Amino acid sequence: MNVPRVNLLGFDRAGLEQYLAGFGEKPFRARILLRWIHKRGETRFEDMTDLSKSLRARLADEAEIRPPEVVERRDAGDGVSKWSVAVAGGNAVETVLIPDRGRNTLCISSQAGCALDCAFCATGKQGFDGNLTPAEIAGQVWLAVRELERRGDERGLTNVVFMGMGEPLLNFDASVAVANLLMDDLAYGLSKRRVTISTAGVVPKIRSLTDHTDCALAVSLHAADDALRDWLVPLNRRYPLAELIDACRAYLSHVGERRSVTFEYALMKGVNDSLSHAAALAGLLRNLRCKINLIPFNPFPDADFERPDASAITAFQTCLLNAGYTATLRATRGDEIAAACGQLTGAVRDRTNRRARYIARLRQPPVSAPAELPAR
Ligand code: SAH
Repeated sequence: MNVPRVNLLGFDRAGLEQYLAGFGEKPFRARILLRWIHKRGETRFEDMTDLSKSLRARLADEAEIRPPEVVERRDAGDGVSKWSVAVAGGNAVETVLIPDRGRNTLCISSQAGCALDCAFCATGKQGFDGNLTPAEIAGQVWLAVRELERRGDERGLTNVVFMGMGEPLLNFDASVAVANLLMDDLAYGLSKRRVTISTAGVVPKIRSLTDHTDCALAVSLHAADDALRDWLVPLNRRYPLAELIDACRAYLSHVGERRSVTFEYALMKGVNDSLSHAAALAGLLRNLRCKINLIPFNPFPDADFERPDASAITAFQTCLLNAGYTATLRATRGDEIAAACGQLTGAVRDRTNRRARYIARLRQPPVSAPAELPAR
């Protein structure tokens, strides 16, 4: 019988130690192997000459180091590259490399599509077909690092954000294992401030995050009142703002004084971009150690939303700055190759039928905010 090989790309240090212990191997061999796989990018066990011949032979029999297959690649003029990689179930997910002033940030996907269906996000409109494996998530990083090596980029990878397709906290174990691998000196050696898990607000998982990893947290907020957020981020109906903010406070109490939570806020014209929305946001986040990252809405085909005018964006940001917040504006990068926030779609076999429903709805007159939303 053909037993599938174990893909070692997805193991963090603890996982690899456990795997090797199954062969009666000492934990330090996991360290050697980690370095070969992630630092040197070696995929052939026979070339790992500081491992015993018998271990190499056994690994060659039972395991593999198999990065995901790239099905499409697009390069934008501004140095941004986007890969579409094949994952299980005939799906493809997207990964984006964003070089920017001394940093090389990689935006990785954690699920095939997304189950959350935020009103303004292209990924949600694609539907959902399940979790990626740790190897499929870590494989995206592995590929990007090899690309930077090929480019002769001396800085290498500096930041990784779980802000591609999917909700990482709904693929918790895999996302945490990859975050830990990213921070492991023997693998990618990124600092805990430079590995960020972004969530739409899965409260119980935010609460347990610090038991499993020390990486940074970003929360996709987009609205400071429940009625508006219920509409934009349907997950809010399950975990409303008060619970979400409490969970962020609990996270902060575990990670130490000098760390903060990043709140992402996609600005949408006439929806959440007025000065009263900015004031409500400033009120909601009072006394919370945080940074606010404003993302001007990125359009995608048939989107129901628009990007606000530059003057409205500046006024919103100024209001937050005047209230004493660190509020940055995320530069829109890669939108000509549909690689900006919320534009990632890949090719997902939709088990939820949501894509078909979305397309059917597009044929009907446009809908805007539900009637019960507060007048603006
Ligand atoms: N599910 C996680 C990870 C996705 S991160 C989360 O929600 O945080 C992707 C980020 O881009 C999120 O902050 C998301 O809200 C934002 N986003 C989605 N669609 C967008 C769009 N069309 N324009 C700008 N930002 C968008």
